[in-house]
Amino acid sequence: MTSRPVCKWYDYRGQFGFPFCKNFVNVSELTRRSMLKRGLAAATIPALQWERAESIALHIGGATIHVALESDRLDLSTGVVFEWVSQAARAVTKYFEKFPVQQASINIFVAEKRHGVFHGKSFGDRGAHSRITVGQHTTEDELREDWMMTHEMIHFGFPSVPERHHWIEEGSATYIEPIARGRIGALSAERVWGDLVRDMPQGLPRPSDRGLDNTDSWASTYWGGALFCLLADVEIRKRTGNTKGLEHAFRAINHAGGTIEVNWPLERALEIGSKATDGNTLLELYEKMGTRHMEVNLSGLWKQLGIISGGRAVSFDHDAPLASVRAAILS
Ligand SMILES: [Zn+2]
Repeated sequence: MTSRPVCKWYDYRGQFGFPFCKNFVNVSELTRRSMLKRGLAAATIPALQWERAESIALHIGGATIHVALESDRLDLSTGVVFEWVSQAARAVTKYFEKFPVQQASINIFVAEKRHGVFHGKSFGDRGAHSRITVGQHTTEDELREDWMMTHEMIHFGFPSVPERHHWIEEGSATYIEPIARGRIGALSAERVWGDLVRDMPQGLPRPSDRGLDNTDSWASTYWGGALFCLLADVEIRKRTGNTKGLEHAFRAINHAGGTIEVNWPLERALEIGSKATDGNTLLELYEKMGTRHMEVNLSGLWKQLGIISGGRAVSFDHDAPLASVRAAILS
């Protein structure tokens, strides 16, 4: 356990493509400002002492998840909002085979006159917790489309590592989120792979990049890290005859005490993950991608996995050399 605040970036994946730097704005300031807008005096707004909050304790995957919703001003019922959190927790539980921490808190803020889910941020100090904002006029469909709640909970299942390795924290959450949702049937296989094919090229190293540890752009942090996880997942499955995958590495790391609440050197996590799978892949891949430029033939990999993209949709070639690997990733 540690008292060091774990500063994550605001989680953000969108069409703007710029980094949402963790120093851009701080959460308590954001909250204070939104409350001030509603006419409350600054002196009356200590963090999270909401005037009208609804809360619930969810028991999922062996964990107790305390969920607090800032107000009743949402168009949606609180039941729908709590179910959105529950579904994310079920997806993460399925991937890790348990919820990755025993106790967690999710504090949901409401943004007036807005739609959607934004400003997700997770912390490991004083227990695993996330802050996330839901727009007042968010619809049930928008919550169904949301990736951020699941992404935040995946952060709970990996240790906090030094800043230069931040890509593994964001990249793993970025890669695992659609797979975890796919595994509980919340996303179709076509949707999972279609989105990965569309978004993953953002993580390809540029000629001037000198490895993930030395490139702190938004694209490298989120999608470079996700590319590392995809390559690791496929390679582990190839080397183990498809009996082990990235999830076995992450489960072992989490089982050994690796959660957002602790600070570890990255190597410790990768050693545990490697030992739990084929013995080498994670460490070898880090050697190749951590501090050096590595060429990746992404379109060749999609082809080997049997993913055929045409326009906005993808279809599958079940006779492709790694078709069984593709299927196992989502099963
Ligand atoms: Zn994140």
